[in-house]
Amino acid sequence: MPATKFICPDGKRIDIVDCLRSCPNQQRCMFLPTLRAVAKSLDRKISEPTVTELIAGTRETFLKKTTDYAVDPASILYALHGQAVHSINERHTQGSILSEKRLKDEITSGQFDFFGKILDADDGVLGDLKITSSFKLMKALGIYKQKIDTGEVYKSGLKKGQPKLRFEFRYDGVRDLLDWSIQLNYYRLLLEQSVSKSAACTFRLCAGIRGFALLKNAVSLKAFTLFLSTKSATFFLSKSNIYQ
Ligand code: SF4
Repeated sequence: MPATKFICPDGKRIDIVDCLRSCPNQQRCMFLPTLRAVAKSLDRKISEPTVTELIAGTRETFLKKTTDYAVDPASILYALHGQAVHSINERHTQGSILSEKRLKDEITSGQFDFFGKILDADDGVLGDLKITSSFKLMKALGIYKQKIDTGEVYKSGLKKGQPKLRFEFRYDGVRDLLDWSIQLNYYRLLLEQSVSKSAACTFRLCAGIRGFALLKNAVSLKAFTLFLSTKSATFFLSKSNIYQ
């Protein structure tokens, strides 16, 4: 079931249709068109669990599918941002590119972003766009912070006598890509079943960030391209587009 209520900033709940008709407060918490867009994005009119839902927590997905629930409209703005990026890209898929097709099997359905000649002469590339948090992107890139001993000690205060430490970013951590990998790999399976048996052997993922705080000291960036290869069953990330 889709979300049926909005949670107002004061914590009260209101049916989404009532909110859109008229806000009981003196002023709306955000612009009416934005609230309408949020409401529309919440009701995707898809009955079966999608690939994205299946990689979320099982209980969360089950409850969302079986129970009416309420959401804070402000919490959906990141998702709306992601949808806007997808829409902008979708308008520019002329040529040998399939895009935004929802494919189904007996378990689930999934909508990939691009398939075709999207990076080079290879016409079997599956691409996915992600707008994600800087924290998640750092994890995906294997970036982490490590405490380094400066060789100095605190001379006064509560930490007097203790070593002074500073944080340094490291880029050789474990790349946590499991959920994205599962998601894209399922799109590949759906594509192979529905469109091409031999294609979709390579998939690639482009990620943008929505929260910059954690990442800003690690890298300044213009774009990320995360490369995942299903052929080798190993995943690797290219840093070629990252400006350190
Ligand atoms: S506009 Fe905001 S404050 Fe007003 S009813 Fe809707 S969610 Fe609540």
